[in-house]
Amino acid sequence: MPDELLQRLKRFREDAFPRYRVQFQTLVDEGQHPTTLFIGCSDSRLVPYLLTGTGPGELFMVRNVGALVPPCCGTSDGGHHGTAAAIEFAVLQLKVKRIIVCGHSHCGAIRALYEDVSPEAVNLEAWLDLARDAVLPVCPSPEALRRTEQRTIALQLERLMDYAMVRQRVDAGELTLHGWHYQIEDGEVNVFDFQTGAFVPASLLASL
Ligand SMILES: [Zn+2]
Repeated sequence: MPDELLQRLKRFREDAFPRYRVQFQTLVDEGQHPTTLFIGCSDSRLVPYLLTGTGPGELFMVRNVGALVPPCCGTSDGGHHGTAAAIEFAVLQLKVKRIIVCGHSHCGAIRALYEDVSPEAVNLEAWLDLARDAVLPVCPSPEALRRTEQRTIALQLERLMDYAMVRQRVDAGELTLHGWHYQIEDGEVNVFDFQTGAFVPASLLASL
């Protein structure tokens, strides 16, 4: 049986790539200059390019379970952290203008905070510690889960500010931080309002 993904790769090369050939060549010749670092959950239902209408060269992306931000330093894993490295590269090398932390509804990582994780999943268990402060002392109702998802996003934005290069550029007005909560079921992205601590529908903000 033919490998479905290999079939799709062939289709991409033959059907889609020709439309992008010039654009990709320019990105190769001139290098990438994305202005946004997108830190998103790994969930397959979150499709950043679809949401934002972006294409090649526009988003520098790092995704992980829960869209979590690890501590900037002092990690017990010897500093081998891809998300921390991506933040440093995006800010110092690419000089991105904004960082988006994007969580979403029905997030398995957030639900796992309220459940027992498989004892084999030692890395997952430790990783989820990065969101534990967002857990509410209630049963995980849909509303509680949504609030935990949003509190987790706010928590990661705070932790981003622990990165010296992030804090310096935010203070200098060269970088902005954004928290997004994507609702899979209705296509709405709720945006974190730093003034009020609330999440506001992007569709409202866009029409203001
Ligand atoms: Zn998720």
